[in-house]
Amino acid sequence: MRSRGTPPSSIPPVGMEPLWALLDLCLPVECGGCGRGGTPWCEGCAATVRDDPVAITPRVAVGAPVWSAGMHRGVRGHAVVELKEHHRRDLIDPLGGMLAEMLRTLARWQELPDRDRLVLVPAPTTASAARRRGGDPVTAIAEAAAARLGSRVRVVPLLRTRWGVRDSVGLSASARTGNLTGAIRAIGPSTRWRHAGDADVAVVLVDDVLTTGATAAESVRVLAGRGVSVDMVSVLGAA
Ligand SMILES: [Zn+2]
Repeated sequence: MRSRGTPPSSIPPVGMEPLWALLDLCLPVECGGCGRGGTPWCEGCAATVRDDPVAITPRVAVGAPVWSAGMHRGVRGHAVVELKEHHRRDLIDPLGGMLAEMLRTLARWQELPDRDRLVLVPAPTTASAARRRGGDPVTAIAEAAAARLGSRVRVVPLLRTRWGVRDSVGLSASARTGNLTGAIRAIGPSTRWRHAGDADVAVVLVDDVLTTGATAAESVRVLAGRGVSVDMVSVLGAA
């Protein structure tokens, strides 16, 4: 029994969580897919996003097969935007579940190489964007997926966007490619790179939304340059 005056344990102490997380506790919960009240992710939306993955041919050649959980619209698109732009961290788990389900299906279809271990490499973000959003959402989604897929699956961050790179929203395919040349750099210790480059490891680059494919292409190129061969690119939505 809790003694009188003790705060409920579900409220994190001030200073431990970003301010928006505390504010979230005061707001009414609504479904991140359809806006229905009372639940962060309703059963209807969970059922809606259970489609088979689709193979994507991006405008920019990526250098690895690209698969999407579906198109970046409707419930799926809404949930990704809610997480990224409105800091709906409660959507990390359902979106991670969507990614895990997609990878399971692709493994069953033998689209994913059958290796001892699976490494998920989050697509790069700028350090400032990650901070602004209270942590990089793509890494968080990958972590949530890995937690569902078991101990043979690990998230290994290897890429970062250089400071000063423009956000690519609104740029054409060729402008995006130009914007990204040299814009993605390798991060992390050499042990991490050796792990990802092992012959018994399948490597999947993970992103939330694929538009032209320029970010994925440049990421695959940078990884290959350091001995990490990407077997597949997986995204939650194709725009
Ligand atoms: Zn819903």
